[in-house]
Amino acid sequence: MFLKGKTAIVTGSTSGIGLAYAKAFAAEGAHVVINGFGDAADIEKERAALADSSGAAALYDPADMTKPDQIAALVERAVAETGGADIIVNNAGIQHVARIEDFPPEKMEAIIAINLTSAWYMMRAAVPHMKKKGWGRIISTASAHSLVASPNKSAYVMAKHGIAGLTKTIALEVATDGITVNCISPGYVWTPLVEKQIPDTMASRGLTRDQVLNDVLLSAQPTREFVTPEQVAAFALFLCRDEAKSITGANLSMDGGWTAA
Ligand code: NAD
Repeated sequence: MFLKGKTAIVTGSTSGIGLAYAKAFAAEGAHVVINGFGDAADIEKERAALADSSGAAALYDPADMTKPDQIAALVERAVAETGGADIIVNNAGIQHVARIEDFPPEKMEAIIAINLTSAWYMMRAAVPHMKKKGWGRIISTASAHSLVASPNKSAYVMAKHGIAGLTKTIALEVATDGITVNCISPGYVWTPLVEKQIPDTMASRGLTRDQVLNDVLLSAQPTREFVTPEQVAAFALFLCRDEAKSITGANLSMDGGWTAA
């Protein structure tokens, strides 16, 4: 329970990797604020389970990560209702797969807003609260696509390269304030986001489902295994420990060897 008394806000935590982060922080006693979209009854069930496992507060806030005013209000609500915004995890994300000439501009704009710009607004809102306490952890879920490209993912690759640059910049700005800023770059993690991109990848590359799974996704990773949401969450938990306080400005790969290859 090393996070007792701390508050962790995880954007995009109604499913996939985000929900695993929320569970990991709650299991260490943190107040957690979950965010994202989905079935209201399912979200309430997850929220209640998080409160049970932490013995602390668990809030759900539906802030839309394309709306700066809602992002700022989410952080202020966490501070008002739980006493802080000590750990923020910028995790909300969407994906779209299409060749540049077929890529709808509105999809590109949404990917940049949700996967990248929202992280800038989250940091802007949370850093003053972290500075007051002299402690903070900012973690963003980047991707192997923050380091390498894949065809037909132009907007996602732009956003994830951007997160890596934002991480380095803010790490320098807050380096003497007790705040660390890092991103984790997973390879393919089996979540709804990956599942949803399979039909578009089949269409844009003329491949079968098995070919997408084996020749596009798993073949990128020398380990030939998907990363799990729980592995990513465990890594984030480590970044919150005192032993990790010298890790800042880093883009930490967790990709089965993808970007080493
Ligand atoms: P997911 O689809 O399971 O979860 C995405 C979350 O973002 C959901 O909770 C969803 O409701 C939320 N969300 C979407 N639009 C939102 C908005 N406008 N405002 C607030 N929340 C919004 O996907 P995931 O795979 O768990 O992805 C989480 C993060 O991990 C993303 O940033 C993604 O790019 C990154 N990532 C995923 C993989 C992978 O292979 N799954 C690999 C590397 C990085």
